[in-house]
Amino acid sequence: MDKLTGVGVSAGRVIGPVLQMPEPIREPDAASTLTEGESPEAAVERLKEAAEAVKENLKERAGRASGNAAAVLKSTALMAGDKALLKNAGKLVTGKGLSPERAIWEAAGDYAAQMKALGGYMAQRVTDILDVRSRIVAQLTGQPAPGIPESETEFVLVAEDLAPADTATLDPAKVIALVTSEGGPQAHTAILARDLGLPAIVAANGALEIPNGTTVYVDATDGTVVTTPGEKEYRLAQAYANRKPLPEFDGTGKLADGTQIPLYSNVGNGKAAQTAAEAKAEGIGLFRTEFAFLNRDEEPSVEEQTVEYKTVFDAFPGRHIVVRTLDAGADKPLPFLTDTSEPNPALGVRGYRTDWTSPGVLQRQIEAIAAAAKDSTADVWAMAPMISTAPEAHDFSAMLEEAGLKTHGVMVETPSAAVTSRDILHEVDFVSMGTNDLTQYTMAADRLLGPLAELNNPWQPGVLRMIDLTVRGARQAEEETGKAKSVSVCGEAAADPALAVVLVGLGVNALSMNTRSIPAVAAVLKSVTLEKAQQIAVQVLDARSAENAKDVARAELPVLDELGL
Ligand code: PEP
Ligand code: MG
Repeated sequence: MDKLTGVGVSAGRVIGPVLQMPEPIREPDAASTLTEGESPEAAVERLKEAAEAVKENLKERAGRASGNAAAVLKSTALMAGDKALLKNAGKLVTGKGLSPERAIWEAAGDYAAQMKALGGYMAQRVTDILDVRSRIVAQLTGQPAPGIPESETEFVLVAEDLAPADTATLDPAKVIALVTSEGGPQAHTAILARDLGLPAIVAANGALEIPNGTTVYVDATDGTVVTTPGEKEYRLAQAYANRKPLPEFDGTGKLADGTQIPLYSNVGNGKAAQTAAEAKAEGIGLFRTEFAFLNRDEEPSVEEQTVEYKTVFDAFPGRHIVVRTLDAGADKPLPFLTDTSEPNPALGVRGYRTDWTSPGVLQRQIEAIAAAAKDSTADVWAMAPMISTAPEAHDFSAMLEEAGLKTHGVMVETPSAAVTSRDILHEVDFVSMGTNDLTQYTMAADRLLGPLAELNNPWQPGVLRMIDLTVRGARQAEEETGKAKSVSVCGEAAADPALAVVLVGLGVNALSMNTRSIPAVAAVLKSVTLEKAQQIAVQVLDARSAENAKDVARAELPVLDELGL
């Protein structure tokens, strides 16, 4: 039996054939000219046919897709039929004798540069142009089309990692599991997989060598991939397919003794907020505003931002919403804010720090948040990402005050913010722990790197003690200021039902997670009293390894096995 090991990031057990993500299309040789015997006219004709085939394929896929994916595919299809682009490429074939693939590469490159220079809506088309260019080159040269492979039947997608743009076209009806050779449990590919409820394993070394079509067993609960599944694996996959559904969330997060622990959703746009409201989430604990603008080359206008934010606020009339200001940088680059050539992006100008290099963007965003909040009934709290010091929290709070926003907070994602939470909470009303980044910075382990996945684990004793310190600092600030200071967790740790119990036991007031995780977390919280959660937390804090910490908690929570979690 051949077995690969990685880190399971979204539980589930399935069997299916592998489809590898194709290699990105490389630039055709600059000296690539017309094939001998082919006239320039025939080459131009071949180019047009390739573009037409790409357009038809995209149109057909757009017709089958819905929502964001349909919109992305439709706009790319339009670009494949762009007459000016084909005319310019044709001229390079007839005038310079370039091969059709080299001609479309150059023509699209020039076109993209012009669009970018025009700015605004035009600049947003750059991604479409470059995508279409790769697709036409693939069609002309007989290579597989870039992006998520197409298939009539279900498959296990294997990739090095997924780019944010790929994720828009991932069809959860076809992709039954995701296995990546890179990535970590707190990177955005893992977050997306959990969002979709897709069994997923990251950092699976050797996954890229599995031949296309191989039937594999993916055990994302265990973090293993078996390339020669036998009777046992088929049985486990069958049992998973027939699992008992979790009880539906009734809209109030509660412990066995009635202590309320609000359960909120993490969202990136209005549609996700709507889904969260339908699932009875108690509000939004993290609105990742950067997700609404990931493909943008230019700063969105205040009006445009206001509309976008209001769609999220309106999904929860009268309810709690925590909106986070733009968290650009590292694996979420925004061309108008971040410099991708930094040698060490995770430690660079990201999150709140972009206010120092691009002054004005944060202030305008706050204006937009305030305008949207004023126009809605939601109870809007605002917070900044990547805060390291109390003076930063002070400055951010002053900006919110100026804009008329009443409840101010920051994220605790750096060890510095964790150990100075008391000082920080003298400046703001609440903190929300971003355990994904807090883990990567505490462990000094890039959350995107496969080989470091074991370190990128919020069960690590160093991370648990950072969380404990944060809560203790908050309670001290409460005593000193005489004001309540809310401490929540909105990192992926909150979505792990066993860890959720530990967080509550450590004194965390509220949890925010992807909408799909809420029923599991709610069901497990309901099985313990606050006293029991506190006892478990004390035991877990004493653990010497991540594995031991998790085992200690699981041993106290039999409900996990009963629910197949
Ligand atoms: C975190 O770091 O835990 C967090 C919630 O922020 P993001 O995952 O968007 O970096
Ligand atoms: Mg973060």
